Amino acid sequence: MKAEIIAVGTELLLGQIVNTNAQYLSRGLANLGIDVYFQTVVGDNAGRLREAIVNARKRADLVLMTGGLGPTQDDLTKDVLADYLGRRLVVHEPSMAKIEALFASRGAHMVESNRRQALMIEGAEPLGNEAGLAVGVALEADGTRYMLLPGPPREMKPMFDGPGTEWLRSQMGAIAPLHSRVLMFAGIGESNLEAALIDLIDGQTDPTVATYAKEGEVAVRISTKAQTDAEALGKLDRMTEAIKSRVGDHLYATEERPLEAAVIELLRSSGRRVSSAESLSGGLLAELLTSVPGSSGAFAGGVVSYTNATKHALLGIPLAQLEGPGAPGAISESTAAMMAERVRERTDSDFGISLTGVAGPEEAEGKPVGLVYFAIARRGGETVVHTAHMSGNRDMIRLRVVKAALYRLWQ
Ligand code: ATP
Ligand code: MG
Repeated sequence: MKAEIIAVGTELLLGQIVNTNAQYLSRGLANLGIDVYFQTVVGDNAGRLREAIVNARKRADLVLMTGGLGPTQDDLTKDVLADYLGRRLVVHEPSMAKIEALFASRGAHMVESNRRQALMIEGAEPLGNEAGLAVGVALEADGTRYMLLPGPPREMKPMFDGPGTEWLRSQMGAIAPLHSRVLMFAGIGESNLEAALIDLIDGQTDPTVATYAKEGEVAVRISTKAQTDAEALGKLDRMTEAIKSRVGDHLYATEERPLEAAVIELLRSSGRRVSSAESLSGGLLAELLTSVPGSSGAFAGGVVSYTNATKHALLGIPLAQLEGPGAPGAISESTAAMMAERVRERTDSDFGISLTGVAGPEEAEGKPVGLVYFAIARRGGETVVHTAHMSGNRDMIRLRVVKAALYRLWQ
């Protein structure tokens, strides 16, 4: 349930009082597990108050308003909401009796405006006020819940904590809980993924589909409201199948997890191990793989062979391959292939991955920033070298090439 709080009062806008009601209500709602997305402040003006309600309705399931329940002409909240909903104001008899009794006991003359505090919106539930005269209002209309509370904190707090909270709890039980599932994709950008699913994203209200880009990964969240788990599962399964039929090749997990975790699991389940030889990524691949619990069963280890001398010393790559006139250079397909093969052999692992390229900011070996080569060597199989041009700054290039290599291994 998403909530918005509208604090009504020109004195709030003038800075004469602090909006402590919004803070109190936000905290109370958070404790109830209700998310507050917006807090709005609006003056005692019918047109602008209506505008605030219209906006809140669009983006919240629950609209809480404080202030403007009093007897005077600038107290408009009930009138404006009733008018907006096309409902009448009716007298709440117990409140009216309470007001009349109070005036009688004081021997005071009761004017018409005092009766306004006993008015209720037709069909609404009254919320008792133990500290004052204005009755609170709770109602549901067209799927939106509204709660109107008085402005003075000493009246507002007990009303919210007592009858207000009781009403909210009863409403939450009636609201279908949200069920969601996250599908994780790699090897495809967010815009391409979105384009492939655009009709599902735009056209669907239940379940809803939304994409979230991460670096080198894209998450797709499917959400549905359903009364039972079985119903929710059915809806989530059907949407998952629809998405799979379009971009299933790129789907690596049906729960939120990084690509390296899926790679480690895949390797562990098949009893195989990978090793790494990294140049431009400086150990980032090893870092990601070892961040996954249980990775020791699937990751043999790696070499950070950053300089040519180290590539030669630790991986045995001939210097003539790396430098000198006519040499392919460290940043080349053939060096990437050798790095992957050597690290695989020397660690006796099933796969060897290598990464070399230009992370920037300056070009290297006359090669442009973003040019990367990564290779995967397989036990008893061929070594495949991939070439890519990564965009972004140094950190992004390094992370993107690592994720790209993980994706190829996962494939
Ligand atoms: P009353 O019956 O006192 O007129 P009301 O429900 O009409 O109550 P308002 O007239 O809007 O409420 O505000 C009355 C007083 O309550 C304000 O002068 C202020 O002291 C306090 N108050 C109102 N709104 C807030 C708020 N958002 N945060 C803190 N105090 C508030
Ligand atoms: Mg008032």
